[in-house]
Amino acid sequence: MVIIGAGECGGRAALALRDLGYEGPVTLVGDEPHLPYERPPLSKEAMTSEAPLIKAIASDELLAERSIRHIHSVRAVAVDRAAHTLSLSDGSSLAYDKLLLATGSVPRKLPMPGLGGRCVYLRTFNDALAIRAHLSAGNRVAIIGGGFIGLELAASSRKLGAAATVLEAQPRILMRGVPAEIAEIIRKAHEAEGVKVLTGQGITAIADNGAEVRITLADGQEVVADLAVIGIGAIPVTALAAEAGLAIDNGIAVDETLRTDDPDIFAAGDCCSFPLAVYGWRRVRLEAWRNAQEQGLLAAKNMLGADEAHATVPWFWSDQYGLTLQIAGLSDEGRSTVRRDLDDGAFILFHLAEDGRLVAASGIGPGNAVARDIRLAEMLIAKRASPAPEALGSQSVKLKSLLAA
Ligand code: FAD
Ligand code: NAP
Repeated sequence: MVIIGAGECGGRAALALRDLGYEGPVTLVGDEPHLPYERPPLSKEAMTSEAPLIKAIASDELLAERSIRHIHSVRAVAVDRAAHTLSLSDGSSLAYDKLLLATGSVPRKLPMPGLGGRCVYLRTFNDALAIRAHLSAGNRVAIIGGGFIGLELAASSRKLGAAATVLEAQPRILMRGVPAEIAEIIRKAHEAEGVKVLTGQGITAIADNGAEVRITLADGQEVVADLAVIGIGAIPVTALAAEAGLAIDNGIAVDETLRTDDPDIFAAGDCCSFPLAVYGWRRVRLEAWRNAQEQGLLAAKNMLGADEAHATVPWFWSDQYGLTLQIAGLSDEGRSTVRRDLDDGAFILFHLAEDGRLVAASGIGPGNAVARDIRLAEMLIAKRASPAPEALGSQSVKLKSLLAA
């Protein structure tokens, strides 16, 4: 069993193979120098904690104990499907019976001239270390992109005393996937913390002289910063799969069992697109931590012959200041929303399809305020339930009772 990509998904898949009782050789190939590690802290605790700790998914000891061979700092450069071998960047090769591609995604590059060493992206622990060095009081950070990376990093910047300006080309932040009502609360929280949020304006020029970055906006305004962090989305890493002749469709295309069009090659996590049962097999690609974990486990099962279909509901969270946002399901499947107010200013928006089916739930509130109800909503979505809108909207009706019904 060979896994390419020692990230969230690849790391979990390697451990799962052992948990499932597989006793043959397991090799995990990763091009980063680290043990498999968690990325969510990179925009949060890894920026703000006293020491920039890496949160490993598996220690060297655990990998050794489980007899998982971890080849780090080496890239897989070619797959020979006929010979069932892989070529690695150090000139060596590896044979496989079953192969898992867990190559993740990389930041979308800003296609503009003028970018230099003070214009950076955030994906890896090493990126986080480089950014962290600039987030001190008195420094100015310009964040291009009002998505998750940008906003979480703005919150971390403020915590460390750096001035932050978020530049979003769309009319509002979090335009894709987060309802306007919730995005507005997040924008207000940022502004209350002193973040400047500029929306609806493209960037016309960037000049990076190595000491500071000057960003010119469409209306002529200039934003000057010590560092510009670009967070304008992620693209799946598919080149290896494409060169091996595997089908690509917004990611490495897999079926519901995470198998590619080669029966011995699977793909999982950020890099793959797959048909999602709960939405009538709509093909999606998810860039989320829990999905990478779940698919790592499922891929391991299916590499061992289980032939099990992916059957979960998408879910992700974002922490900014004291607020936590959680979304279960795909909100773009909804045609109407019902609001349910919870304690402490928290609320949930339930997204209903035209036929009344609950297809997603988006919640925001302090700390864990929405966690339990989002979990119940997720179960209702999985059941393809169509609860009465009045019941969803009323705090006096327990979601648990709707689930039982
Ligand atoms: P990755 O974690 O990207 O791992 C893929 C690995 O494969 C990488 O190490 C890559 O270098 C390696 N690789 C690629 N090609 C090759 C090759 N040819 N040979 C060898 N190695 C290769 N999600 C949430 O739900 N909530 C959050 O709060 C959250 N916060 C995040 C914060 C940040 C800063 C980032 C970057 C992501 C965050 N995410 C969050 C998303 C989540 O971390 C990802 O969805 C998850 O890491 C995907 O796991 P993966 O294993 O598919 O890919
Ligand atoms: P993202 O959430 O997709 O947000 C990117 C944002 O940048 C979008 O709002 C996008 O608008 C905007 N944008 C695109 N081009 C732009 C331009 N030229 N100028 C200004 N804004 C522009 O992606 P991300 O924040 O970069 O995150 C990257 C990856 O990390 C994703 O996989 C994400 O899921 C993951 N991540 C997740 C979390 C979390 O779930 N809590 C936290 C951090 C990171 P359009 O919609 O128009 O493209």
